[in-house]
Amino acid sequence: MSVTREHRTKIVATLGPSSSTEAQIEELFMNGVDVFRLNFSHGEYEEHQARYDAIRAVENKTARPIAIMMDLQGPKLRVGTFADDSIQLEMGDAFRLDLDKTPGDQKRVCLPHPEIFAALKPDTDLLLDDGRLRLRVQECGEDYAETIVAVGGPLSNRKGVNVPGVILPLSPLTEKDRKDLEFGLEMGVDWVALSFVQRPEDIIEAKKLIQDRATVVAKLEKPSAIDYLEEIVEATDGVMVARGDLGVEMPPEDVPILQTRIVKSCRKAGKPVIVATQMLDSMVERPVPTRAEATDVANAVKEGADAVMLSAETAAGAYPVEAVKMMNRIILRCQQEDSYWRFLSEDQPELESTTPDAISAAVYQVAGTIGAKAIATYTNSGSTTLRVSRQRPKAPIICLTPRDDTARRMALVWGVHSTRAPDARSMEDMIETAVHQARIDGFVETNDRIVITAGLPFGTPGKTNILRIARIQPKNQLHETSL
Ligand code: ATP
Ligand code: MG
Ligand code: MG
Repeated sequence: MSVTREHRTKIVATLGPSSSTEAQIEELFMNGVDVFRLNFSHGEYEEHQARYDAIRAVENKTARPIAIMMDLQGPKLRVGTFADDSIQLEMGDAFRLDLDKTPGDQKRVCLPHPEIFAALKPDTDLLLDDGRLRLRVQECGEDYAETIVAVGGPLSNRKGVNVPGVILPLSPLTEKDRKDLEFGLEMGVDWVALSFVQRPEDIIEAKKLIQDRATVVAKLEKPSAIDYLEEIVEATDGVMVARGDLGVEMPPEDVPILQTRIVKSCRKAGKPVIVATQMLDSMVERPVPTRAEATDVANAVKEGADAVMLSAETAAGAYPVEAVKMMNRIILRCQQEDSYWRFLSEDQPELESTTPDAISAAVYQVAGTIGAKAIATYTNSGSTTLRVSRQRPKAPIICLTPRDDTARRMALVWGVHSTRAPDARSMEDMIETAVHQARIDGFVETNDRIVITAGLPFGTPGKTNILRIARIQPKNQLHETSL
């Protein structure tokens, strides 16, 4: 079973009813998924636990570290459920929102948020399902709103509701989030995605609860977060451009510009960034994407995002495997173009005056000059690997780490192939292990060269300070090295 990836931009896939069995999850993984997302806005704990266990079973079977990201709902407003799971609203229909928990029908549904009713006025618009549907308030009170459908469409259980321009007094970590977080961390998730982050303090607060049990992805989906972009990127471990809510809260023409800005800031800081939502949306129902969707994925890839994400396509769609295959094909196609690599190399982030940055810049140069087939980075926390990835070298980056958590977290990072390996004990050992790993994972053949970085003295976590080149010798011969 070959599980070596060619795609540098990583694929995140959301799990749901269409992708819950171990066989389904394994198939998604084999077709290119690097990170699985468990969305705590939907489903019961037992379902998340079963999916978690299935992912770890696939990890065991393939001996490849897989990252699991839990997504906390945050203060997201949602409608309740429907007696028939979904309804169809037509323009001009009357539709009532209220606090009655009875399952909804064609005439009404529960909107379990008294604070929304308090903020509504006649003529306020409510946007539903990432902005697909629009309801205009006609008349309202403290526990109901009578609306007219301005833009219709299907509406199903627990779809999101936005009230653009209205500021609701909501905390970024709800009671439910705190409970979910404890459950997820207990289970052993690698990344925690925080929804509706607005300020760096939101991340600091969450990190106090999480400590070092997981790393944090800040979901940017509020226009106000952009005012603190640099500070948020500084405080977090990773970022998600969550275009679903972002696109509802601001005009569509602003979203692509913001995406570019966010991706750039993250790359500059060396923090992984995910572009998410509606990437191959039409594949929820159809086996092929629109050409515009293919272009959207390719644009995120060309901008240098670390990962692209599938939401309903894999969670609830009819073609989850096809969606993953399609994403993988688009990424590989971009990588065939010289212009892709040229653009990434022209857009080099500035170096900081630190030893790790000096070494990673040297790695980038040396690997390019000698046409290295792989770069091997020994790391404890993953920070060296992140600094090398930030430069977007052409050769795949093998991350060798003794830590399970680091190996799994690094699955999200651009160009990184993570593996568990014991700390090197000597220079020979360091070279042998790196060469062996590069060979068994199919990155190199005899006579190819690789670049290796590590920190001396061996076995003590600290700063990376050495760089070696090794040529792959015929099996059973020692590898020639040079500085
Ligand atoms: P978020 O704002 O966090 O992205 P979302 O409702 O948009 O929340 P996604 O994870 O983006 O959720 O998935 C898109 C759609 O796929 C959901 O609205 C839901 O209909 C369906 N879905 C996703 N995960 C599940 C699940 N575990 N159970 C049921 N349906 C799911
Ligand atoms: Mg959300
Ligand atoms: Mg979504």
